[in-house]
Amino acid sequence: MADFNKVLTPGDYENGELNVVIEIPTGSNHKIEWDREHACFMLDRVEPIAFAKPCNYGFIPQTIDEDGDELDVLVITDQPLTTGIWLKTRILGVMKFVDGGEVDDKIIAVPEDDRNNGDKYQTFEDLPKQLIEQIRFHFNHYKDLKKPGSTEVKEFADVKTAKKVIADSIERYKEAHPELKAKEDLKDIAEDAKSALKNAAKEAKKAWKNVTK
Ligand SMILES: [Mg+2]
Repeated sequence: MADFNKVLTPGDYENGELNVVIEIPTGSNHKIEWDREHACFMLDRVEPIAFAKPCNYGFIPQTIDEDGDELDVLVITDQPLTTGIWLKTRILGVMKFVDGGEVDDKIIAVPEDDRNNGDKYQTFEDLPKQLIEQIRFHFNHYKDLKKPGSTEVKEFADVKTAKKVIADSIERYKEAHPELKAKEDLKDIAEDAKSALKNAAKEAKKAWKNVTK
């Protein structure tokens, strides 16, 4: 299997477009996780069926959240998505979340091109209230049978806040992978050199025209 952190970027998130890899389909109580060490998916544990996921659950490639893992995403769809697919999504907001005292935010998103519902969701406030309450309830209680009170949903916040959380997670990834930063710097240098050459060619052409007048 391809290493998602090598073949995918986070996407054009500043313009609201985010790449997401799906781990857990809606309705599943299987805690399937991307195992970055082996570059494949693993079943970490089976959760109580009462705590099956109310929405698809995945991650953004090339990000590191405050908990040290890739930044998590809740993807809302009518039908469950499959483990292992990736998709372009539209950012709707972020669920600010704490797990065992550690910040573990969840970006909220929908497929970017959804012709079944006519792309009607633009922010989390457009989502059905009942769905938001189910997600809130799920994340406040899904660890209750093991350790009650260990998780807490703080709030649902807007797209701007979500983009800031994503930007911080990308920055953390870049800091941990200096080769990526070096690659970007090289690309910038190459682009600068290309436009400098183009300008020089233009100037030379002008000068040649003057000489041959
Ligand atoms: Mg996480």
